Amino acid sequence: MRTITLIVIHCSAVRPGQRSSAEDIDKWHKDRGWKGIGYHYVIRRDGSIEKGRDIAEVGAHCYPHNSHSIGICYEGGLNEKGKKADTRTPEQKKTLRELVGQLHQQFPKALIVGHSDLEPSKPCPCFDVIKEFAEWNPLP
Ligand SMILES: [Zn+2]
Repeated sequence: MRTITLIVIHCSAVRPGQRSSAEDIDKWHKDRGWKGIGYHYVIRRDGSIEKGRDIAEVGAHCYPHNSHSIGICYEGGLNEKGKKADTRTPEQKKTLRELVGQLHQQFPKALIVGHSDLEPSKPCPCFDVIKEFAEWNPLP
């Protein structure tokens, strides 16, 4: 397994009613010329998890941090008007907490951050990840 120092949360930047399954994102990323979905996990609106790349494989979700990170993307992130918003359903919040908790056990030294914490020009994932997972973050 590669060294993991970051668990990075993303949103797929779709509006309510727009679908972004792991299969959809795989197609979008292939259209960009990538080798397929850049995330390791996708959390659908119903709370189900779909696997993207294997976590042993380097992702493509947060340049230049890909080599040492795991990328999780929840389906949503835009409101009806196309504005950034935390659109997570209760099911998505529950699944995200379970998944991040498992990854935290596996990689206890990894920081749990949002995409915007690493790249402030991006609103993704539209909520304060560091605050939400504060109890698991090995911050000073
Ligand atoms: Zn992102």
